[in-house]
Amino acid sequence: MKNKGAKPSLNNTDIACDLQRHYNFTLGRFDSRVKTPYLLKALALTVRDRLMERWRVTREQENAAQPKRVYYLSLEFLLGRSLSNAIKNIGAQAEVEQALHSYGCTLEDLETEEIDAGLGNGGLGRLAACFLDSCATLNYPVMGYGIRYEYGMFHQSLESGRQIESPDHWLRDGNPWELERPDHRRRIQFHGRTESYTDDLGARHMRWVDTSDIYALAYDMPIPGYNTQTVNTLRLWKATATDEFNLNEFNAGDYAEAVAEKNLAEQITMVLYPNDASENGKELRLRQQYFLASASLQDVIEQHLEHCGGFAHFADKNCFQLNDTHPTIAIAELMRLLMDEHRLEWDAAWAITNNTMAYTNHTLLPEALERWSVHLFSALLPRLLEIIYEINARFLVQVAQRWPGDTERQRRMSLIEEGDEPMVRMAYLGIVGSFSVNGVAVLHSRLLKEDLFRDFYELWPHKFNNKTNGVTPRRWLSHCNPSLADLITQSIGDAWQKDLSQLEALRACVNDQSFTQQWANIKRQNKARLSDLVKSNTGVTFNPDSLFDVQVKRIHEYKRQLLNIMHVIHLYDRIARGDTQGLQPRCVLIGGKAAPGYYLAKLIIKLANNVASVVNSDPNVASLLQVVFLPNYCVSAMEVIAPAADLSEQISTAGKEASGTGNMKFMMNGALTIGTYDGANIEILEAVGASNFFLFGLKVEEISAHRVACTPNQIIESDVDLSRVMQLLECGHFSLFESNLFDPIVNSIRNPHDPWMVAADFRGYIDEQQRAIECYQNRELWVKKSIFNTAASGRFSSDRTITEYANDIWKL
Ligand SMILES: *Cc1c(COP(=O)(O)O)cnc(C)c1O
Repeated sequence: MKNKGAKPSLNNTDIACDLQRHYNFTLGRFDSRVKTPYLLKALALTVRDRLMERWRVTREQENAAQPKRVYYLSLEFLLGRSLSNAIKNIGAQAEVEQALHSYGCTLEDLETEEIDAGLGNGGLGRLAACFLDSCATLNYPVMGYGIRYEYGMFHQSLESGRQIESPDHWLRDGNPWELERPDHRRRIQFHGRTESYTDDLGARHMRWVDTSDIYALAYDMPIPGYNTQTVNTLRLWKATATDEFNLNEFNAGDYAEAVAEKNLAEQITMVLYPNDASENGKELRLRQQYFLASASLQDVIEQHLEHCGGFAHFADKNCFQLNDTHPTIAIAELMRLLMDEHRLEWDAAWAITNNTMAYTNHTLLPEALERWSVHLFSALLPRLLEIIYEINARFLVQVAQRWPGDTERQRRMSLIEEGDEPMVRMAYLGIVGSFSVNGVAVLHSRLLKEDLFRDFYELWPHKFNNKTNGVTPRRWLSHCNPSLADLITQSIGDAWQKDLSQLEALRACVNDQSFTQQWANIKRQNKARLSDLVKSNTGVTFNPDSLFDVQVKRIHEYKRQLLNIMHVIHLYDRIARGDTQGLQPRCVLIGGKAAPGYYLAKLIIKLANNVASVVNSDPNVASLLQVVFLPNYCVSAMEVIAPAADLSEQISTAGKEASGTGNMKFMMNGALTIGTYDGANIEILEAVGASNFFLFGLKVEEISAHRVACTPNQIIESDVDLSRVMQLLECGHFSLFESNLFDPIVNSIRNPHDPWMVAADFRGYIDEQQRAIECYQNRELWVKKSIFNTAASGRFSSDRTITEYANDIWKL
């Protein structure tokens, strides 16, 4: 009886018919004037129908072949919009345009109405989304597991230049891409206590009792690959109350208490924590992490047993990739499920766990390394804490055997950090429980081995490896920059979309006048498109003939938006003084969200806005310099921004940006990078060559020596330009009625222990910016450099990254 009825086709008239049918009969709309939100929904359903069949076939083929499967566990998936991606991937663009024609609208009109799925903070969540796209495109049996947050990343607006957060209720109008899967409901335990018991065969086991339980409800989203029949799955879990949640209170007549408890259960998946690169430390966050881990592992185990009967081949058939420390509790949870629920002995359970778990580290910043208080752990997840203690005890025996008598090392490497408030170190759990530990760029992976995880590297060098991040060229080139994609295809054919290294062939086009002219024209059009967005969001008119200098990313001290703003102040000062020799018109765009509790990041946003309003309101400056802070930076905004950038700002303090992926999107779209020797910038520089990259700043090895050699105050005193910038900041020029407003920022620059080295890198940055603007004056040469950047961006495709994961870690 399966697959009863006709398969939806990609043919014009079928698509038009289905669109009409969904509009009228699924959504019940018969308006004489078409309403866009409903038409968007009808189109999404029409496209989804076409994914359904491929989805089913992908699943059936997998069930028949029983290949090794990979599960990508992540607290974040920053998907953005799905509609045009799905249409493009199934190759139905022309047919959809045709069908929409009779409604008097274009696909572009509709797609901009779709709400972003913002289930992530920034780079880490977006990486997960790019990886899913590449896995499906490369036909790898990889499934994503995440959380279906009711509220995703907050919406950012500005009030007097300050960030205002509002909730992102992205599910308000429903989500046409998801399917509820009630048959995959899982029970998750919290609280309670543990006890031992003897089973009917006389064996001792532990059990976790008197728990408060909730359900995890599965919602599946289709992940279509590009130009392939494969449709993979992203399974997102929503928390719901169990039916017995209220029995006690209900019987006692406490109706209100009972319902309140139900709400408590459902709170687990209510909201995404909006902290990027710093830990949250909140109990609810630990609940989210355990909830995801437990539901996903139960799901995988049940499906495995259904097909394989037992655990003998579990590690040959399954692999879990843990996206940062967030889901590493999965290591202890797999042990619990195998031992307590499936009666395996410790050693057998450990062999399985240790052969299926792989951990990706995303940061060296100490504030991002998650640690949970033992106290909290024992109250919320008592059985898991016992297991972590046991893992630790056995691990420390190994350490003692390897380094007899080195108790200091045992203390350093322990999964439990001792102190007034003992803590569980989740990164160490990740390393001890996994067979693979990877960093996300060459430098980052080296620093993991040499610094952060040095002890562990000495113990297990074979576990450590690098997988330099990448981004999907489907979203970050063909979809967001269709004109450039067309030009590339006309010149080198269209195989580059699945093999991005073929972009190398563009190098041969740099002496073709007509090609370079078209390249320049397309950049100009994309800049005009971004100007419209800037105008409608900020009221400022960008001149598309100026150099577009762009920094968009989460606001963080290590990313040094402050250094960028100081350069802007320096230019403003020069122009005001009439020192305009060698200057060129420049438009500076800064965007990004600050974590709501990150005081200094929010003050940096305020400074950017105040500087922008002083600069933009000075008529003497306007022709050479314009500045905006663009509110609500998100995936769909980046799709307009990246194609329009001339200069990509990647200016983190060396050693702090693990990889960066924004840098790759800009490069792919022909921007030149001004950047430090950090993260994947280094690999970008190597790929494109030093003459096509603006490099500045201290290298990671130079930083501590430099800090000893000179203080920020000495640097400021000996640099006239920096002194003038500090003077403008300190005299209240950008905070007229609140003269001390920016004192915390000034103090951070002058702090002799400034970890971010802002003063130290100022001179190098300013000089390199001057070199960039002079280079931009020779527009023909700049266009060539732009083409060289796109041509060299092949290795930053997430297809390359995923192929490496599949070959080296997953062994698919
Ligand atoms: C790519 C991307 C990021 C990551 O940017 P970085 O510059 O690497 O920090 C963050 N947010 C969004 C919306 C992105 O698309």
